[in-house]
Amino acid sequence: MSAELAASSRDPLVALRERLREIDDLQHAGRVLGWDQQVLMPPRGTLARGRAFGTLERLAHERLVDPRLAALLDAAEAAGEDPGVVRAVRRDHERARRVPGELVAEIAEAAAEAQPIWARARETSDFALFAPALERAVALRRRLAGCFPEAAHPYDALLDAFEPGATTAEVRRLFDRLHAGLRPLIAAIAARPEPEPVVGAFPVESQRALVLEMARAIGFEDDAWRLDVSTHPFSEKIGPGDVRVTTRYDARNPLDGLLSALHEVGHGLYEHQVAPTLAGTTTDTGTSLAIHESQSRLWENQVGRSRAFWVHWYPRAQELFGEALADVPLDRWLAAMNVVRPSLIRVDADEVTYAMHVVLRFELEVALLEGELAVAELPAAWNARTEELLGVTVPDDARGVLQDIHWSFGELGYFPTYTLGSIASAQLWDAARAAMPDLEDRIASGDPSALRAWLGEHVHRFGRTRTSDEILRSATGGPLDPAPLLRYLTDKYAALYDL
Ligand code: ZN
Repeated sequence: MSAELAASSRDPLVALRERLREIDDLQHAGRVLGWDQQVLMPPRGTLARGRAFGTLERLAHERLVDPRLAALLDAAEAAGEDPGVVRAVRRDHERARRVPGELVAEIAEAAAEAQPIWARARETSDFALFAPALERAVALRRRLAGCFPEAAHPYDALLDAFEPGATTAEVRRLFDRLHAGLRPLIAAIAARPEPEPVVGAFPVESQRALVLEMARAIGFEDDAWRLDVSTHPFSEKIGPGDVRVTTRYDARNPLDGLLSALHEVGHGLYEHQVAPTLAGTTTDTGTSLAIHESQSRLWENQVGRSRAFWVHWYPRAQELFGEALADVPLDRWLAAMNVVRPSLIRVDADEVTYAMHVVLRFELEVALLEGELAVAELPAAWNARTEELLGVTVPDDARGVLQDIHWSFGELGYFPTYTLGSIASAQLWDAARAAMPDLEDRIASGDPSALRAWLGEHVHRFGRTRTSDEILRSATGGPLDPAPLLRYLTDKYAALYDL
């Protein structure tokens, strides 16, 4: 009898923990490789790195679909042990088991092949070059959705991978309300004069110093976090006590780097504050992409773009940047970081118009998957709908339908989580302020620790043992609701733009 079988007959709960620990360790190694690839690895290492990734993923996948894991989950459930962990892992097991290995492999292969084609197509603004790869990706996603025939809509099965429990019908309903509420606000702002930009020299070392000081106030601990530079800022928890965040710096414009850093620190804080008891169970991470994004956006937008935050930090910024900000009053600094302007590129979009970019992608993805829209018709549909939603004309496909990396991976169902996250961030912000009426005063005094603690208590510590809906209902009293986001944006921008 193997040691493992001996352990499982002795105590199935111990055996379950051992199996989860093994999966967790494989994922841990994969996260180190991923971080390294984006921050340190020379580009020629890509091919070999891809292979190493594939091996780790295969090993973790084999362990996840193993029927003996299901038996151990049954035993744990019967014993009433770790119900949140058992539920989350069973979900992973079921999802992984339902998708045939060869489909998983084909999706991975198609993504790897499509990526450089997409990059070339974007460079030359040539959609026709990318179209066959996208057609293949859509066909593969239809097959993937087909593995979940019980879904009310095939897109539900794709959404579910990123946002467990979300449905197409619900997203459509939320987005319709958001769209209707944002339209008049965007029009009203467009009629107002544009704020003056802040220009000057902002040394990268000073930006990094300010980012670190702000991050430490929020929860960055020097012996448990790292701050690095990457082209596309991201955040990753390798394991407990090891949170990595990245940002980028532009020596002429400090706002992008500062706000990106606050965004990623928000993601990092979520991971940092998951209960240590969940370590090694694969559930000590954010519960869904929308809840994750609610954390990054809350720190970036509700806190990081607020007057209260900068009442404390602006004098320090002026100290660090010297001449560049000497004659810039706080109001101008705030106006510059809260400019609202409909634009072509999603990643550059402001807080108000961002949702329109997501509505566009959601509608098109659903139509593609349903077969209502052919890939060949996509650029024209993109351009027409951009004009309707944002009032801007798309000059070429590079700045239109080819701009995002997501479709190069064949990823459909991901985009909605960004805006679901914004919706949740406003609900959580309202709930935190209701619980702590002096919250903004505390932030203005340079101490956001009460907000950190509140989020830890109501959102972070549960990891994946609570669903996003459970977290929202217990923290805010209700499910996803766009009203708080609309109210927050309307109040904030009425003041900033004198509406
Ligand atoms: Zn994010």
